[in-house]
Amino acid sequence: KPRAVNVANFPTANERSLHSECNIVLLGCRGVGKSALTVKFLTRRFISEYDPFLEDTYTSEEVVDQQPVLVRIMDTADQDGPVNPERYLHWANVFLVVYSIDNKQSFERCCQYLDIISQYNRGALHECPVLLLGNKLDMERYRQVSKADGSGLASRHGCLFREISACLDFRLVQQIFHDAIQEVRRD
Ligand code: GDP
Ligand code: MG
Repeated sequence: KPRAVNVANFPTANERSLHSECNIVLLGCRGVGKSALTVKFLTRRFISEYDPFLEDTYTSEEVVDQQPVLVRIMDTADQDGPVNPERYLHWANVFLVVYSIDNKQSFERCCQYLDIISQYNRGALHECPVLLLGNKLDMERYRQVSKADGSGLASRHGCLFREISACLDFRLVQQIFHDAIQEVRRD
């Protein structure tokens, strides 16, 4: 027997936006800097050594465009390509797919994640936005992936593209996460 639901207790659209939430998932192969970016965003610090096997979800209260948002960040730790994507596909509001500009293989591996998300988006009610991130921009001298290759891959998958470094300016890292939240709000 269905239970009566008192609609008066539901938050109004305005209250919902005041208590809005955003689940962000970082994907990409091992060593590209997913944890470094996550920790930098959460603590403003660059941590050079982070357990490569540790997968965890963090929360942070942010204010983006004068609006508070509860951000949850899942810092995944796939060791060798995508496994069990079910754990994040339904949970995520937005994906950050990361490669390292000094590692061609990490760029090629991104395609696997982009394909999984594209396939998921085709069957979903709301498309989940994706940001493709070329990390380790401070390693310009050792660049193996051109900016044009990065933006080309992003446009083929209909996603945004940024190059970034987890060990340079905090505000640039913060802006990436805020861009992700703005993409979710745009939907
Ligand atoms: P994850 O496996 O994707 O979580 O990668 P980590 O965050 O553990 O980083 C892997 C290695 O790359 C570590 O030695 C980090 O210090 C280094 N690293 C991460 N981000 C950057 C960056 O932007 N620039 C440089 N030079 N090194 C980075
Ligand atoms: Mg990690």
